[in-house]
Amino acid sequence: MDIFNQVRTLKNFINNCRKTNISVGFVPTMGALHDGHLTLIKNSIKENEVTICSIFVNPTQFNNAIDLKHYPIQHEKDFKLLEEAGCSAVFLPNVEEMYPNGVSQDSMLGFNFGSLETRLEGAFRPGHFNGVGIVVSKLFHMVQPDKAYFGLKDLQQYLIIKKMVKDLSFQIDIIGVPTVREETGLAMSSRNLRLKAEELEVAPYIYQTITKMKDMLKDNQAPKEVLEWGISTIHKNHSFHLEYLEIVSTDTLEKVDDYQLPEGYAIVIAAHLGKVRLIDNILVE
Ligand code: AMP
Repeated sequence: MDIFNQVRTLKNFINNCRKTNISVGFVPTMGALHDGHLTLIKNSIKENEVTICSIFVNPTQFNNAIDLKHYPIQHEKDFKLLEEAGCSAVFLPNVEEMYPNGVSQDSMLGFNFGSLETRLEGAFRPGHFNGVGIVVSKLFHMVQPDKAYFGLKDLQQYLIIKKMVKDLSFQIDIIGVPTVREETGLAMSSRNLRLKAEELEVAPYIYQTITKMKDMLKDNQAPKEVLEWGISTIHKNHSFHLEYLEIVSTDTLEKVDDYQLPEGYAIVIAAHLGKVRLIDNILVE
């Protein structure tokens, strides 16, 4: 497996793939890899001749300096996992390589993702999706993949990337991959590494609650009632500090109302557990 730290060496590799018409799959990550990431990698390996994974903890998408400082880093372990999975190459740039003009807000590009970016994660993490848009569009220019793989665990990010690809006319298929979970139901996340043992025990409560909400909706209970039940259930467990819990359309992320249920909708949640912020969602089709 090749490891590139520079755009220049990555480009050489990509140019060789292009010359020989080799299809390229791409999986952008921030590292501290788990089975969720590896499922994206495996999907890419199945569908492309070459798979490239990037590992970059992108400072411009963190609105919380403490979260950035404590973001887990384990490159050697990541390389081993990627190699075992059959990944062809890793792109591991440093901040200067990705942001030659620096990362101050003044030198930042600005994206406008409309109503998709102002709700949910966007409301609680101002600037987050602008940072995601910047880094993913830069990576797309560097890697020029045929297909790129994103987890549906980050549903809003997936929708924003799909929009960005259309808006900027990238010729890249964006593939959404279902959330991979621990046996307990907890959505896998690099941030779970920061949960204490007793927090890991209560963390699956989030998934249990949204799963029950999905069952209630399937039983034709009114969204408003289901939502009230969900919010009061999370509040009953004092370990969690709830940021949002909503039932939203999977196309627009607008709130679902009781009388006009869209085709597809999702239950989306973000909550703090100790020092860790957890997000999850479940699709109701
Ligand atoms: P991250 O390293 O957290 O930025 O995640 C990199 C990619 O992996 C993103 O597309 C995430 O949505 C995806 N991902 C993270 N956790 C999971 C999971 N549990 N299941 C599926 N995909 C995931």
